[in-house]
Amino acid sequence: MTTKINFNGEIHDELNISVMDHGFLFGDSVYEVVSTLNNKFCFLDEHLDRLYNSAKAISLTIPRDKEWFREQLKNTLIAAGNDESYVRIIVTRGVGEINIDPSSCEHPNIILMVMDVTEYPKSYYEKGIQVALVSIKRNPRDSLNPNVKTGNYLNNVLAKMEADKLGAQDAVMVNPWGFLTEGTTSNLFFVCEGHILTPSMECGILSGITRQLVIQLAKENGFHVEEGKWPGEELFKADEIFLTGTLKKVMPVSNLDGRPVGSGKPGPITLSLLRLYDDLLTKKA
Ligand code: PMP
Repeated sequence: MTTKINFNGEIHDELNISVMDHGFLFGDSVYEVVSTLNNKFCFLDEHLDRLYNSAKAISLTIPRDKEWFREQLKNTLIAAGNDESYVRIIVTRGVGEINIDPSSCEHPNIILMVMDVTEYPKSYYEKGIQVALVSIKRNPRDSLNPNVKTGNYLNNVLAKMEADKLGAQDAVMVNPWGFLTEGTTSNLFFVCEGHILTPSMECGILSGITRQLVIQLAKENGFHVEEGKWPGEELFKADEIFLTGTLKKVMPVSNLDGRPVGSGKPGPITLSLLRLYDDLLTKKA
């Protein structure tokens, strides 16, 4: 159970960071979470591409190239020596003056955290989880675009707190126009009459790496997949619901707002996609 933290290329057991870093003061940062399998990074190229895209979207110039990240991540993973790791890559705006203007921050800070991973309980996959359709809205795309993965997650924190109060393990948010978007740290899929449906980018979601892979796997295996706009109520008609994400993988939802989804157990399409995704991970590792 080891944690190693790489700060701008130096590996530490613990790290104290300046309170004047705008990442801390304003959530002015970008990040990625990467998982490992057989102690190798899963889909690292895709995560690094998204990190650079997020940084570009907030005009944050990352002072190192992707090769530097690959090398430093490898060294930090070796130093931690865990069987499997949770890996978090953070690039903050850096230390600056105590006002919101980022122009005083001259040096972005790069933090690579490698920690022991805590997996979701097996029962979540066998029985499915409970999800609440919450009142907190996902940010609209012309505000802080949900497709930019920043350290500013308070909107999602509030959604998760609302779900907790309702006795659910996670929340699904609609956008300000009432259309389905995503979970707090995952993308949303649902099945109606054998068709796999998922909110489109237009609804204001993060382009999840797992989402992309699941769409591709589903299509390759003969499923009909549709990306589109559906009002929140549509979710109550679903025969199956599942969430996707780097850590969640393909997670079945068996209960929505206290009502069973379909049979109240993980559905057949969800289970076959969970298997296909696990096989893909194993093949890549
Ligand atoms: N949406 C949000 C808001 C997220 O934080 C995440 C987790 N990164 C996802 C979707 C899923 O993305 P990925 O499959 O790339 O982990």
